Order: sequence, then structure tokens, then C-alpha cells
Amino acid sequence: MTIVGVLAAVAVLVFLLRIALKRAPIPFGPELPRPDSVYCGGDTMRQYEVFSTMLARMSVPSPVITEAKDALSRTDFNFRRLKPGDSVTLKYRGLQLVGLSYHLDMVTSYQVDFDSAGTAVAAKTVREVDTVRSAVSGTVAGSFWNSLLGMGEEPWLAMRFTEILRYDVDFFTESNDGDSFELLFDRLMVGGTFYRYGRVHAVHYKGRTDNTYGFYYRLPNGHWDHYNEKGQSLRKTVLRSPLEFKKVTSYFGNRFHPIHRVWRPHQGVDYAAPRGTPVSCVADGQVTVTGWLGGYGRLVEVTHRGGLKSRYGHLSGFGPGVRQGRRARQGQTIGYIGSTGDATGPHLHFEIRKGGKPVNPLRIIPPRADPVPKKYMADFKRVRDTFIGELRRISSGPPVPDSAAVAESATR
Ligand SMILES: [Zn+2]
Repeated sequence: MTIVGVLAAVAVLVFLLRIALKRAPIPFGPELPRPDSVYCGGDTMRQYEVFSTMLARMSVPSPVITEAKDALSRTDFNFRRLKPGDSVTLKYRGLQLVGLSYHLDMVTSYQVDFDSAGTAVAAKTVREVDTVRSAVSGTVAGSFWNSLLGMGEEPWLAMRFTEILRYDVDFFTESNDGDSFELLFDRLMVGGTFYRYGRVHAVHYKGRTDNTYGFYYRLPNGHWDHYNEKGQSLRKTVLRSPLEFKKVTSYFGNRFHPIHRVWRPHQGVDYAAPRGTPVSCVADGQVTVTGWLGGYGRLVEVTHRGGLKSRYGHLSGFGPGVRQGRRARQGQTIGYIGSTGDATGPHLHFEIRKGGKPVNPLRIIPPRADPVPKKYMADFKRVRDTFIGELRRISSGPPVPDSAAVAESATR
């Protein structure tokens, strides 16, 4: 045999060996475990995987997968709600799979136990969540967002804070270095580890132009909202804009049309945003149009109380559940930014019609949502004053060391 022949034979052998190794169950490596040794391994769900393909990737034989699926489907386990990043732990005794845990998050998991005959029993485990009342106060340096994140908080809390106050404070134009903020909220903890944020009870933002409070208050009928110190709702019945981060590229009124090359009135406001950006419905109402309408391209029209209609044009697609005749809620994703119809690039054409006539959306002064009803005002004020007391205590912060002690420690 020539050297080339030997090399070729070796290459073929290595190739076959690799295939053989790939097919073999390999959680234990080349050495077989002792029959009584216990082994635990884990992995996370990858994108485009489903329950069975993930377990197959982890070398679980298909009859065992079927048995586990059957056991889980006898619980409220929802195979459609699994998502990338969910984690799975497998427990082996010797070569036998004896347990499987699927963790939906830190709190909820499902445990499947296999007996020696391979029969599976599944059960759901929900861990206890502790609510820890927390307080944060700080000063803006750079931006409110970065200042709060710089204190070790996560983006959700910054988002919630700006969301609660967004009709009264425009954090893009009115936030300045030196402004101060305070928040009272709940941290949800599992076994001493941060799980997620809970309710935001009270917020306060004090800047050059704003001194705005927000207090959580729940009515006996279950309706809740954040109210200012007068008991007025911080929510407006119509949002200022259908986009959270907005850049106006064309205002309402006469303009030279970029495609038709003529001067004509622009009946709405154009906002530039990347394709696929979610567009929010500006007020509660009913969807009256979803479909293609000439230059608007893909359009959604929602009809609101008081003879108002809002129109969202050039969409690339419609939001989930957005269909003609359905209800639409304020803040719901109505569609996604696109460039359908007469559009030179991805943008939203946003239009408000009052009594059938287009009006300038930026001139609409929407009424606030309902205030605290008069009969609950006394109770609201009591809740408010407790919150104000708590906010005062956190903004005054820990006692400042007296200057003599600081000077002494500095000279040491
Ligand atoms: Zn437009």
C-alpha cells in the first residue's frame, strides 16, 4: 500500500469514527459511568428549536422524549410558549435518564421524573416570590436614563418611570443635568436573588421646568392609575405621538411633495424610524380600516370617541390582533414602520381627522384620563401624603458625616 493509500484509509476511519461518536449518547464522554453514579447536565433552548428537537440535540432518545411530552401535556405546560434561553436540566443515574426539569424562569419550572420502567410523571413547581419595597433617588448627569442605570438599576425601571410621567415631562427636551428624581417601587426576589421589578408606587421628577409627582392609586372597582398630587390622571386620552422615539421629517400643512413634485397640503405628520419599529395606537377605539389605500400604502385607521379618527400609513405590517371591527387599546402595537405606498423611505404618516377633516396632530390637546372620583379623594390624599413622606425620607438620603470627622480621616 502506498503512503497515500494509508493516509486515505486513516482519513476514512477518522471520518467514520466521528459520525459514530456524534450518534452515540455522549453526555458522559468516552468512559461509561458506573450504574449508580448520578450525573446532571443542562442546556438552553436555542432559536428555532422546539421541545423535542432540543432534547434530541441533548442526545435524549426519541421514545423518552415522547414519554416526557405525554407527561407534560397532562399538566398546564404550554409547548407554544417556550422561548430561546429557557433552560433544561437532565438528571441521569448511570445511563438511565431519571429526571428532566424545564425552567420557564426563576419562578416557574416543570419537573419530569422517570421510574425504572421509563414511565414519566410531570409536576409544576412555583417558587415563592418575595416583594421588597425599594427606594432610589438621584441626580441627572448626562441623561435621566443613564443616571438611573448608573445606579445599578435595569432599563425596565427607567422605561416605566418615563412612561408614567411622559405626558407631563418630555425627557428628550426637558431633562437637564442637576434635575433630581425619586422612585418608590417593589423588587421581586426569589431565594434572595433579584427576579424582576414589581409595582412602581410613587415617582417624583424635579427639574428647571417640572416638579411632577405620580402616585399609584387603586379604586375599589379595581381600576388603577398613576395620579398627580391633585388626583388628576397622568395619562392623556390621546398619546402625544404614536412612536416612543420620534423624529419628525414633515409637518402638517403645505409642502413640496417629494414624489409628486408639486406643492400641496400635507394632511398629517411624518416620522422617520427604522423599518419594523412598532407603531402605537394613540387612543382607545375601534379599528375601522386595515388594508391598502393608494398613496398611504398599508394603512390602519382607528375611530375614537368624540368624532376623532387616527390613521397610520406606509406600514410594513399590522400588529397582532389588529383587524377591522376589533377594539384597539391606547399603546397597543397597531403596525410596524415600512415604506409602502408613496414613500421614499421607511417612515410613518400619522394623521388625525376630526369630523372627517384632517387636523394637525401636534396641535391636539388631549384631555386627561379620568381623575380620582370625588368620593375617594379623601382616601387618595391620605395615600398620597404617606408617599410624599416616604419620598422625602429617601431624597434626604443617609446622614452626611460631619466635616470634622471627614477631615480627620483624610489626614490619617
Ligand atoms: Zn405623510
